[in-house]
Amino acid sequence: MTDRQKVTGLLATIAKGLILHSRQQGAKMLGDRTKYIGMSDVGAAFDCMRKAVMGKLNDTFAIDPEVISELYHDGEIEKIMQILRRELILQRGHWQEFGLSGVFQSLDFNQAEQLEIKHVENGVPIHVHVDFCLVWDNAVRIIESKSTGHLPDTLYGSYEQQLYGQIGLLHDKWNTPSFNMKDSNGENLFEEDVTFPELVKQRFGRTLSENPVNIAIEGWVLALSLNDAAAFGPYYPNADMTRLVLNVAQEIWTTADAVRRGLVDVDQLDHCRGFNALCDYCPFWQDCPRYSGAVEDPEFEADIVNLDQLKAQRNDLDAEINEAEQRAYDHFERSNLLGKHIVAGEHRMKVSMCAGRSSFIGNKFDELLIKECGISETKIAELRARCTAPGKSYKRVTISKIPQKSLPKAA
Ligand code: SF4
Repeated sequence: MTDRQKVTGLLATIAKGLILHSRQQGAKMLGDRTKYIGMSDVGAAFDCMRKAVMGKLNDTFAIDPEVISELYHDGEIEKIMQILRRELILQRGHWQEFGLSGVFQSLDFNQAEQLEIKHVENGVPIHVHVDFCLVWDNAVRIIESKSTGHLPDTLYGSYEQQLYGQIGLLHDKWNTPSFNMKDSNGENLFEEDVTFPELVKQRFGRTLSENPVNIAIEGWVLALSLNDAAAFGPYYPNADMTRLVLNVAQEIWTTADAVRRGLVDVDQLDHCRGFNALCDYCPFWQDCPRYSGAVEDPEFEADIVNLDQLKAQRNDLDAEINEAEQRAYDHFERSNLLGKHIVAGEHRMKVSMCAGRSSFIGNKFDELLIKECGISETKIAELRARCTAPGKSYKRVTISKIPQKSLPKAA
């Protein structure tokens, strides 16, 4: 086995393990997700009802781990890497929760981990899973943790809906036996569901009011990237938003039922418009009408204009940076400061000379081969052809304005 094959083998093993781990954790902590509506379903429906409904039709939509072995056997390395990247992004959020839990523990906070709130809305079972619920004598904070590659400036509507559902049901179900917690094996901590004040009393020995109006309930979204953080909130229980969330939950449930009975075609459901991050990680993209290959697609206009503007900004920025760097080079050179630092406030800057890149001069080499080794031009051409491989194809995005047809001249 070559080193290259060993590298691929290791990455394929990790990809397979990630899929297995995700399945096991999901089954343990969330159970059969086709049997209830969760707040992540409601959040998904905000952007794509098709995805939310598809997720309710079966619970085994995750990739079969054996697919990785088959891909490895067939040498489909790029496909394995696509799965690996997707799983890493999806699972980073769970790893983040584990780390944050340690943070709250070291702060000695009373945290109700893996809190579950149950509600039935017109026969529709709704289960709310809360990432973190921090409890004080007269205040409760719910924190939804999100792992993102890039921190958003404002909170996505789907995250807000999730959070409104959590704080709204915490408030509305407060003094009803609707609460439980799970241990790390997914087992309920309480034999029977309890009220929230009972849960807090048994867990932390604190007495909370039986009326949630006496408690300051807040919801927050904590977004973490690999090297940055942002907090969005506070959000407060809001009866209108709770109603909206419950209505969406009901709609997902009844639509999934109608699809199961063949009354509704899942592909006719509302789905994402334009480029949407939800589609990047969606397990239902393969037969999604979003990728029907339509050439005329006005929904993309806003995204195309935005990308075009971002590229133009990058070009302007590149030009500005080049100009500023050139000014710095000139200053250092004229002041005889090359290789030395200029210190300014908390920063320092240096301009130094770097060795130029060496380049291979093909024509010169050919001349020397002929002159010093006596190899013919034909032989050199043949050897060169044998050592030439086409470059790897790459993707390129091109955006341009469609030329307007010239108007017929007035007679
Ligand atoms: S690929 Fe996008 S549009 Fe299609 S179901 Fe998934 S999230 Fe919805």
